[in-house]
Amino acid sequence: MAPGIYSDRHLANDLKQLYSYACQICETVLEIPGGIRFASVAHIRGLELPHSGPDTLSNMLCLCPNHQALFKFGSITIEDDLRVIDQTDGEEIGVLLVRHDIDLEHIRYHREHHKFGHQKLRDQLS
Ligand SMILES: [Zn+2]
Repeated sequence: MAPGIYSDRHLANDLKQLYSYACQICETVLEIPGGIRFASVAHIRGLELPHSGPDTLSNMLCLCPNHQALFKFGSITIEDDLRVIDQTDGEEIGVLLVRHDIDLEHIRYHREHHKFGHQKLRDQLS
């Protein structure tokens, strides 16, 4: 497979199929009339500047629209052991459902990039 031949849309569709349109965080499957399923694909390390993440499956997650938005804004982050953390209260939401190779470097990048102030404050207090 030569790079650049397969567009983002192809990869995104492959990923959605792999998870049967289930969110990797909450496993919700959204169905719209006509038996059509709906899911969002999030790039772990954003494609846009300054992140310049790669457009590859190892940099993608299949998520429901709620978790896609929360992940994009860093309200949820993922640990190296794939536990999903809610950054608004520091609580663990669950463990990421994984059926494809995810590059932990991207997971770390996302986590480092979205460290919220409250966490630093809590570290100071503890
Ligand atoms: Zn979800």
